[in-house]
Amino acid sequence: MMDYDKIMCSRIRDIPPSGIRKYFDLLDGVEGAISLGIGEPDFVTPWHIRDAGIYSLEKGFTKYTPNAGLTALREAISRYMKRRFDLEYAPVGQIMVTVGGSEGLDLAFRCLLEPGDEVIIPTPSFVCYGPLVSMDNGVPVYVQTKAENEFRLTPDELRAAITPRTKAVVLPFPCNPTGGIMAREDLEALAEVLRGTDIIVVSDEIYAELTYGRHHVSMANIPDMYERTIVVGGFSKAYSMTGWRLGYLCGPKELIAPMTKLHQYGIMSAPTTSQYAAIEAMENGDRDIENMKEEYDGRRRFLVNGFRKLGLACFEPRGAFYTFPCIESTGLTSVEFCDRFLAEERVAVIPGSAFGPGGEGYVRACYAASMRDLSEALERLERFLKRLRAQQ
Ligand code: PMP
Repeated sequence: MMDYDKIMCSRIRDIPPSGIRKYFDLLDGVEGAISLGIGEPDFVTPWHIRDAGIYSLEKGFTKYTPNAGLTALREAISRYMKRRFDLEYAPVGQIMVTVGGSEGLDLAFRCLLEPGDEVIIPTPSFVCYGPLVSMDNGVPVYVQTKAENEFRLTPDELRAAITPRTKAVVLPFPCNPTGGIMAREDLEALAEVLRGTDIIVVSDEIYAELTYGRHHVSMANIPDMYERTIVVGGFSKAYSMTGWRLGYLCGPKELIAPMTKLHQYGIMSAPTTSQYAAIEAMENGDRDIENMKEEYDGRRRFLVNGFRKLGLACFEPRGAFYTFPCIESTGLTSVEFCDRFLAEERVAVIPGSAFGPGGEGYVRACYAASMRDLSEALERLERFLKRLRAQQ
């Protein structure tokens, strides 16, 4: 018998699986279940974008693209970054197309980290940062953001986490799961702390298009920060293109070059059909983003109000498509709450504890779901809370 546990690299073996997955598996095949669990838009990719992918196949564009992505797509990304975020990136050298934002994050850490290097990760935040850092023999340094600070990272929190081993800081804003965003003045205050250091900013801006009321500002927009910031972008969320597996990295050419080399050996090039569809998305997709965002905005208000009416405190999310209500008043841990809510009412939400330190006491409910599902989920929540309170 092979002892696979001994054979497999311990660094990978010892990383716990994502705390999100379990709830999808539990939900599978449950009749009448409602999922507010998955972080995925409920819209189908807009037709004109799908059509561009199909048309590229009809024309027979089925080969590899250049490693860094189709030149036409990199040019489209370059124009888009300028137009939407006032950021200048050269199509050749400063932009590379990746297999989702996920690959972009993986490449960034792999190219930066020596064993023992520390990466500051504000939490609660998306599940992948810490495990990716650990897989590279780096050390995740978690910093808890707080509801009373609107889940923003403060300069004092950042300063306190910096050591001589700090290689990078992740800025996960707009934030999954909290919905927190950083305004220009918040970023300027962090820049004050970073100036004069060699710390790199890995800015996960996958939700940059989805902000409510305030325009997204990138750390790369702040004076002196451009040269140290890697922007991770993607198509999954804004254009509802999760299955196309496409994202991009923008940054100084000295940082993008090694990542392109790694991508060349590990991936070769991102999916060709997706790249053709993505050109259409960037060139003609602004209206789609606005339409979907308007929908999300209505659902966001509905869900936040619903939670508050039921007695659950809930920060009003400023970006992405998640709410993060506090469930401490129920006396349950976030895992107990989610397990019981799923078992008793067949609604999946995700325990805050899955998103790192500071997530306990909260659950994540995604509002990229139909109004009917959201409304039904709130009715079931009301029933569930009544029962819990009767038991207390
Ligand atoms: N970053 C964040 C914050 C996310 O929520 C996600 C997806 N849930 C990703 C990155 C990865 O997205 P993708 O690989 O589909 O672009």
